[in-house]
Amino acid sequence: MSELWSKKSHEELKDTVFSALSENVNYTKEPILGIPASYLDDKVFNQDDSFLQNAPFISTLVQNPNHIGCHTLGKSESFFKGTQAIEKEVIRICASDILKGGEEEFDGYVASGGTEANMQAIWVYRNYFMRVHNAELSDIAIVCSSDSHYSMDKAGNILMLDVFKTPVNEKTRDVEYDSLTGLLTEAVSAGKKHFIVVCNMMTTMFGSVDTIGTYTKALNDLKLSYKLHVDGAYGGFYYPFSEEDNQLSFANPAVTSITLDAHKMAQAPYGTGIFLIRKNHIHYAHTEEASYVEGEDCTMIGSRSGANAVAIWMILSKNGPHGWFEKVYVLQRRTLWICEQLDRLEVPYYRHPKSNIVTMRASHITKELAQTYGLVPDKHDNPSWYKIVVMDHVTLEKLTPLMQSFDSE
Ligand SMILES: *Cc1c(COP(=O)(O)O)cnc(C)c1O
Repeated sequence: MSELWSKKSHEELKDTVFSALSENVNYTKEPILGIPASYLDDKVFNQDDSFLQNAPFISTLVQNPNHIGCHTLGKSESFFKGTQAIEKEVIRICASDILKGGEEEFDGYVASGGTEANMQAIWVYRNYFMRVHNAELSDIAIVCSSDSHYSMDKAGNILMLDVFKTPVNEKTRDVEYDSLTGLLTEAVSAGKKHFIVVCNMMTTMFGSVDTIGTYTKALNDLKLSYKLHVDGAYGGFYYPFSEEDNQLSFANPAVTSITLDAHKMAQAPYGTGIFLIRKNHIHYAHTEEASYVEGEDCTMIGSRSGANAVAIWMILSKNGPHGWFEKVYVLQRRTLWICEQLDRLEVPYYRHPKSNIVTMRASHITKELAQTYGLVPDKHDNPSWYKIVVMDHVTLEKLTPLMQSFDSE
């Protein structure tokens, strides 16, 4: 971990955020006549100083900075440069401290969510293959696993790319060399020449983690042209802490970009997906026609709230790296407790040892039980699995009655 990410007191958070806000434009005090933006409607949202002075996040929401564009490229909208600098710091903390990018610089931005961040990655690589390798749309394929998030299918549909999904091992939920090689060979026969590979750092339904080496070995053995993205929408704020020594980081040269969602395990407000990519790639998603935006627009979204970046920065800074390890440690302990109970009760389940998701076989769970405890199925008609996601609010106190209902069956 570098020194960039450190634990800060509430006073320090306040100082940093208020000083950033003071560097943004002030619609009340300055003549700002040309942008279609203002503070939140003051007939509805309380802008009383005594209410806002201790609330840096709410103050940011009220001042409503727009973070349109990408702020790691050097030049961006000068109206909101204070809070944009905070977003830049969020990108650095995530890429360097959490995902081991070291001193290297990265591009990235706070996207609407994991869906957008995954699509942004696929968009960048699609354009890269088309521009640099003269590829046609039909030459390019998305490759992921059958446990990957449905955002890959959305991206395939919107960006007009075929999606190839490799089956996973039913027991380990990991990708396997032979089936992957078979799938890639099939794709090559179907005319695919360039591959956008998405590797999972914890899947949505199982919390399973793909062995990235299986992907890179299969691709390299077949001498295929590829770019590799890691989908850490769920796991990005968990797995790097539960398994420090892992291959799904920027320490691995095969990884070009990573998605993380702060609105899942980091408990940030919705609208806090994070897209991170090595330098010299994001310009493949540059929209030249975005001429009224100062700097560049290399993002999929247009206007977006700067309050989201501030929220992530505050959460990371309040906890600090040690606090984050402790948070994950507690969730790991609780998850282990669930597994011990299920073993004793002989309820079959899948759990990756470094994950906080426990996915139980539906055969042991009635619809009523699932409803009472808010268990989520893999599919709504005729489910095969139900999962427990061990979040901050999923305490032993709330878990015990579920285990007791298994006991009494
Ligand atoms: C949740 C999730 C996504 C999509 O994220 P949104 O923030 O809902 O758009 C993508 N991939 C994985 C693995 C996820 O868990």
